[in-house]
Amino acid sequence: MTDNTNSSNARKVKCPQCGLLALYSPENKARPFCSDRCKLIDLGEWASEGYKVPIQQQEYNEKDLEQLYQALGDENLNTEEPDESK
Ligand SMILES: [Zn+2]
Repeated sequence: MTDNTNSSNARKVKCPQCGLLALYSPENKARPFCSDRCKLIDLGEWASEGYKVPIQQQEYNEKDLEQLYQALGDENLNTEEPDESK
């Protein structure tokens, strides 16, 4: 009885992320994780600890933006005269 399949000598480990058995071999680039997704999730969890920066959402209303653009536009119109040198 000989086993010709390569999988016989492949080790399997538990994926640290989801707990499924993952192939522990060069074939599995995400090892010891079962998949790239689990690897990324794990990496993401590590990385997220350094990214706990509160995101300040500035609330601009469309009206505010309109006023801002109008103010800028008026200024530009006043300072920049059409170039008619051509
Ligand atoms: Zn997994």
